[in-house]
Amino acid sequence: MEEKRKVKTSVRFKSQSMPKSEKCCLDSGTNNDPEEEPPGKRSMSGDLEEEPPGSHNMSGDLEKEPASHIAATRYKFFKDIPDTIWNDWKWQFRNRITRVEQLTQFIPLSAKEQAQLRLVTMRYPMSVTPYYLSLINPDDPEDPIRKQAIPSALEMTMGAVGLEDPLGEKEDTVVPGLVHRYPDRVLLVLTDICPVLCRHCTRKREWRNGGWVQTPAQVEAMLMYISQHKAIRDVIISGGDPLTLSNRHLEAVISRIREIKHVEIIRIGTRFPVVLPQRIDKELCTMLAKYGPIWLNTHFNHVREITPEAGEACDRLLRSGIPVNNQSVLLRGINDSVEAQTALCHGLLKIKVRPYYLFECDEVQGTEHLRTPVEAGIKIIEGMRGHTSGLAIPTFVIDLPQGGGKVPLQPNYVVAQSEAELVLRNYEGRTFRYRNPGERQDLESAAEALPAAHGAAGYLAQEPAANVG
Ligand code: SF4
Repeated sequence: MEEKRKVKTSVRFKSQSMPKSEKCCLDSGTNNDPEEEPPGKRSMSGDLEEEPPGSHNMSGDLEKEPASHIAATRYKFFKDIPDTIWNDWKWQFRNRITRVEQLTQFIPLSAKEQAQLRLVTMRYPMSVTPYYLSLINPDDPEDPIRKQAIPSALEMTMGAVGLEDPLGEKEDTVVPGLVHRYPDRVLLVLTDICPVLCRHCTRKREWRNGGWVQTPAQVEAMLMYISQHKAIRDVIISGGDPLTLSNRHLEAVISRIREIKHVEIIRIGTRFPVVLPQRIDKELCTMLAKYGPIWLNTHFNHVREITPEAGEACDRLLRSGIPVNNQSVLLRGINDSVEAQTALCHGLLKIKVRPYYLFECDEVQGTEHLRTPVEAGIKIIEGMRGHTSGLAIPTFVIDLPQGGGKVPLQPNYVVAQSEAELVLRNYEGRTFRYRNPGERQDLESAAEALPAAHGAAGYLAQEPAANVG
């Protein structure tokens, strides 16, 4: 029986390969490091377990059951993978599903769909970790996780709509990999590699470049620029996903940034807590904790992504002194309803992650089918405000084209307005009059008039309203 399982496991993954440059990413700076095994070396035929993997306890101290469909999907497709291997982020990374032939082992696709997806992946590649794949209900074509990770023919048929680089990042690139748009902060892109290629990605244009990591010379040039520009107080390390790099590689960059005196905070943009939370392990958190203040922005889009594993990853970050914020993207058929956003934000608060931004999906080529009208976002915020705690409500923003920056959009609660008064509607639609205090340029003269106009007893005897101008 065990021998049979070994064979099944190796057959399932034997044809999976990784582009050469991606291997460089994982190996980067690690080829001589005995702690960082080269991809493909570890045996997948260790101790096999009889129970469904979903019933296993990850941390050993709490009994945590993933949602039943997740356990069922993982058990159905990955039952031969023991927890020790399943929870090894490098195994997950090495065994990403990147080809349509592999995908058909997990998700039923007609011959026509397969042919279409082959065409799509020639332009926009696919990459899905086994973990993230296990969150998909394979029998539901409308599954919200599936729509984020599995290519769609619409990426090509509507592919002419939109722009390659809608945010104009190329124009704001000051040295390769470093975007300087706002005076006090820069975006530092270390790699274009991500564990999951999200179909709505703003930097989809980079996917065709085959996976790159900045060279040491390029990193030096970025650090030099930051050290020479004293107004920069906030460095955002993003990608691609910077956590695809080894801890040693990351530390080499982060420690250098921390040495620059005028840099106050470092932010890391990563989707690992969502698509491969096993990466957020003790070693990574211990390393990051040395270089605080570090803030981490992640990218949950649907409540089903908030698994026990994801919650544990965020908890490890928080316990290491790294606040975690969420930046979700409003996506058609995935999270474009009040119910979906409320469930997502409530789920985030339960794992102590702050819902920070809800982005209108950028007008990127190949994502038009996932974009919603702007009004949908405003209606969602309106549907949440007053109905749930303010902490659960993200700021809805549009990132303007050509580097115009972020603009927050809110429902309009002002029914009428004059210099003296506003008429406001509340979340129930009831209207209220609100006296506008105005600029109060009369305050000084009113204060001066107090002792001359009134004796203390007479003044205090007046109705309070008379004392207020
Ligand atoms: S993790 Fe971010 S950068 Fe990477 S594919 Fe997804 S949206 Fe794009």
